[in-house]
Amino acid sequence: MDKLARMKELVATLNEWAKLYYEEDAPVVSDAEYDRLYDELRKLEEEEGYSLKDSPTHRVGGAPQRKFEQSKHLKKLYSLDKCQTSEEFYEWCARIEKALGYLPTLTCEYKFDGLTLNLLYENGKLQKATTRGNGTVGEVVTAQVKTIKKLPTSISFKGRIEIQGEGILRLSNLEKYNATAAEPLKNARNGAAGAIRSLDPSVAAERGLSFMAYNIGYSELELDTQQSMHKFLVDEGFEVEGGWRTVNSAKDAMLFAAETEEERPNLDYLIDGVVFKVDDLRLRDEIGVTEKFPKWAVAYKFKADEMTTELKDVEWQVSRSAKLNPIAILEPVDIGGVTVSRATLNNYGDILKKQVRIGDRVFIRRSNDVIPEIMGVAQRQEGAKFIEKPTVCPVCGSPVEESGAFLYCTGKHCAPQIISALDHFASKDALDIDGFSEKTAELLFNERHIFDGVGLLSLTKEDMLGLEGFGEKKIGNLIASIEKAKHTTLDRFLFAIGIEGIGKKTARDLQKRFKTLEGIMSASEEELLEVDGIGDILAKNITDYFSDEKNRDYVERLIACGITIEEPEEADGVFKGMRIVLTGSLPTYRRGEATALIEGAGGEVAASVSKTVDLVLAGEDAGSKLEKAQKLGIKIIDEDEFKRMLGI
Ligand SMILES: [Zn+2]
Repeated sequence: MDKLARMKELVATLNEWAKLYYEEDAPVVSDAEYDRLYDELRKLEEEEGYSLKDSPTHRVGGAPQRKFEQSKHLKKLYSLDKCQTSEEFYEWCARIEKALGYLPTLTCEYKFDGLTLNLLYENGKLQKATTRGNGTVGEVVTAQVKTIKKLPTSISFKGRIEIQGEGILRLSNLEKYNATAAEPLKNARNGAAGAIRSLDPSVAAERGLSFMAYNIGYSELELDTQQSMHKFLVDEGFEVEGGWRTVNSAKDAMLFAAETEEERPNLDYLIDGVVFKVDDLRLRDEIGVTEKFPKWAVAYKFKADEMTTELKDVEWQVSRSAKLNPIAILEPVDIGGVTVSRATLNNYGDILKKQVRIGDRVFIRRSNDVIPEIMGVAQRQEGAKFIEKPTVCPVCGSPVEESGAFLYCTGKHCAPQIISALDHFASKDALDIDGFSEKTAELLFNERHIFDGVGLLSLTKEDMLGLEGFGEKKIGNLIASIEKAKHTTLDRFLFAIGIEGIGKKTARDLQKRFKTLEGIMSASEEELLEVDGIGDILAKNITDYFSDEKNRDYVERLIACGITIEEPEEADGVFKGMRIVLTGSLPTYRRGEATALIEGAGGEVAASVSKTVDLVLAGEDAGSKLEKAQKLGIKIIDEDEFKRMLGI
C-alpha cells in the first residue's frame, strides 16, 4: 500500500474511533491501540511533510456535541505532550534546559483518567461547568457537575476564576454501581464521561462522581507558580490527589513516576500516567506553546493495562470452594509487555450482565498480580455465540447448583476441588510441606481417599506404602516434612484452611492484629474491618466461616492432629505494640515508606480511627480521620515528630 493510501486509511479509522470515544462515550478499542495508529499516522505525516485536511493530529480532544449548550472557555485548555519512556522524558528536560539554560523546579501530579472539566466561579459562586470539548469551546454540563457532592459550589475568592480538573468515578463507586446495575459500566473512565455527558443529571448523581482539581485557567487572582495554584485549590476545599509534589531534577521526576506506577493498583481511581509542569508561570511564558500543546508540560504515560481482543472460547474450572469459574480463552494479546491469552469472566451472573458472547471483541484489563479480567464487549461480531450455562460439573458430572451469581458443583467428591484444596493446604505460603505437590495430592485422593488437611496430617508410613513413585526414603521424607509443618504460624494456618478471599497478605495482617487463633475466631465484623485491606465482603467471609459448626470442628480436629501455632515475633522498636493510622499526604514519605518504618519499629498500621488506635500520623489534607482522632483524644503527630520518634 502506498503511503498516501495508508494515511487515508489511518485518518478514517482514527476519526471513526474518536467519534465513538468522544461523542458517544462508547470506545471500541483501548487507548493504547488508538495511540499506536495515531503515532503511525504522525510519523507518516512527518516523513511526507504534509497531512490530510481531516487528520486527527490537528485536533485537541473531541469536538463538542450539538445537544448541549456550547460555551467558550476564557482561556484555552491545551492537551499535553506525551512521552512513554524515561529517554523521551530526559529529551523533554533537555529542551527545557536549552530554552532556559537550566532545569527549573517541576511539579509532579497524577494524570487522571476521566473527563476534563472547566469550572467558572464568579462572585464566589460556581456559575458554569463545561467539558474541555475541543479546547476552545466545550459543552455546558453545570447541572451534571453540581451532583458531585464534595465539589464546593461557593468559594471565598470573589473574582472570576476558572478551576480545571478531572471528573472521575472512584473504583469503589464503580463497584458499588455495577453490583446492582442492569448494565454494568465497562470502566470508570466511561462511567464518568458518560454520566457527565448524559442530558439527564440524575445519571451523574446516581453514579457518585468526584472532581479532582489540578489547575487554574483564567484567573483574576495573582498566581506565580503551580504550587500557589495547588495551595489555592486546597484552601478553597477542592479535592486534590495526595501524590502531588515538586522536584528539582529529572531523576527525581522519574522516581515520582516509578513510585506512582507502583502505587497505581492501590488507588481508588484510574490514572494513566503522571504530569510534569514547570512550576514558575513566568518561565512558562518564556518556554512557550506549540499549536497543540504547551512546551512547559509533559505527560508521562504508563504502560497500557487495557486492550481489546477476540473471545475465542470459555472453559469452566472447578475451584477449591466448588465454584465453577468461567475462564475466557482469548486471541493472545500484548498488554503492557505481557502476552495475555486467558482471562477471568468472574461468574455466570457477570457473563449475563456484560452480555459477552464467544466471537466478540472484548476489553481486557490487566493490573499487577491480578488475573486479567474481561470488562465488556468492544464490538459485537456477527454470529457470536451465547455462552452456555453448564448444568453439570465439567469434571465430576454432578448437577450444578446456582446461588446468586455463582454456579457450584454439588458433587461431594469432585476431584479438582479436593485436590486443589489439599495442594493449597500444603503449599509454600500455607503449611509448607516440603516435597508435596499437586501430583501427591492427586495420588493421595485417588488411592488413599485423603480429602482434607486432617487426613493429610494423620498420614502414616503404612498408609503410604505401595503408592506409585513412593519408595521408603521418599515416604520417610514426606512424613518428616509433615511433622515439621505442624509447627507453624498463625498466618500460615489461616491461609491454609482456605477461607474464601483470604490471601497471604490478609492472613498476615490478621495475625498482626489478633495475635491468636481464638482472637480471630471470635472477632466481630466490626473488629475485622479495622484491619487494613479488609472490607465488608472479606469480614463477612471470615465471620461466616467461623460461625459454621463444620468449620470450627475442622479447625479443632486440625489442632488435635498436633498443630502448634507459634506466637508471632514482634519487631522491637519505638512503636512496639502500637496501632497507628496514616492520613493525609506527608511532606516526604509515601504511604508505603511510612508503613514500612512503622512495622519495622514494631507498630501496626490500622485502616480506620477507633478507640483501639494509639497514634495518628497526619500529613496535609488529612480529612475525616483526623477529625475523628481529635474527637477521641488520640495523639496526633506530624512527619517531623514521627522522624524524631524513630530517631532519624
Ligand atoms: Zn464436580
